[in-house]
Amino acid sequence: MVLQDLGRRINAAVTDLTRSQTLDEKAFDGMIKEISNALIAADVNIKLVSQLRKSIKASVKFNELPPHANKKRIIQKAVFDALVDIVNPHQKPYEPKKGKSNVIMFVGLQGNGKTTTCTKLARWYQARGYKTCLVCADTFRAGAFDQLKQNAIKAKIPYYGSLTQTDPVVVAREGVEKFKKERFEIIIIDTSGRHHQDEALFAEMVEIQGAISPHQTIMVLDASVGQAAESQARAFKEASDFGAIIITKTDSAAVGGGAISAVAATHTPIVFIGTGEHLLDMEKFNPQSFVSKLLG
Ligand code: GDP
Repeated sequence: MVLQDLGRRINAAVTDLTRSQTLDEKAFDGMIKEISNALIAADVNIKLVSQLRKSIKASVKFNELPPHANKKRIIQKAVFDALVDIVNPHQKPYEPKKGKSNVIMFVGLQGNGKTTTCTKLARWYQARGYKTCLVCADTFRAGAFDQLKQNAIKAKIPYYGSLTQTDPVVVAREGVEKFKKERFEIIIIDTSGRHHQDEALFAEMVEIQGAISPHQTIMVLDASVGQAAESQARAFKEASDFGAIIITKTDSAAVGGGAISAVAATHTPIVFIGTGEHLLDMEKFNPQSFVSKLLG
């Protein structure tokens, strides 16, 4: 199911109810059930859906509504607010400071879009006047440095990496030290992923974090991962304690309910979403505008 389908289904449930002759509590419960089913079909965690169901129910008290209350408005707002709540962990992400070296480290499984997103974020800050650079600390995957280098050259962003050094901790440290000395304001470090969560990956992540003390660690999560996203995020959270999430491939066929559940489970804000393969295909994430867009 794509995101638009989920939005359409939720909208239809609300419209059907507000247009029906009998706008009573039973019909209202039916609408909540339909919205819940749509979210579950989109891989949103069942506990989260049950939370949403309760919060919609609690915010519309049928028996206490004044006779001329605009029920349609009240119901629409309750649904909107409950959806916003799902994607809003009420945590503020780190805000990079101008005139200072802000070190941002990326983590995530291979193929989720980490390297692409590193460059997108670098370009995003560069376009906003920050002196920005990229460090490739992925010495695990052959070709990782070359990929980052190509991306960086295309975006005209200075980069650092090594074709000979096999220790990612050394590369990360050297890169960060070099760019700090050169007074770069945004230093983005790409780390290696693996196909699966494994001990070696987590040990490496912790070591790199220890070596470079990032101001922010961002986890990259593919929207199409589905239910598995949550356990993936929990495992990374335990190891790297990331402070922000970027959900990639929101333009793909999957709706990303799993990724959204992962955000809620780890109480971590989504900072951006990836909307395509190109450098500019990234949007700043805002819970309210995300839900507005979802509902069209
Ligand atoms: P990594 O292994 O996590 O570093 O992943 P890559 O950055 O190499 O990306 C894996 C694939 O996903 C590449 O083909 C990217 O072009 C693609 N990709 C990354 N982000 C997006 C996105 O937001 N939308 C789409 N459609 N593709 C993306």
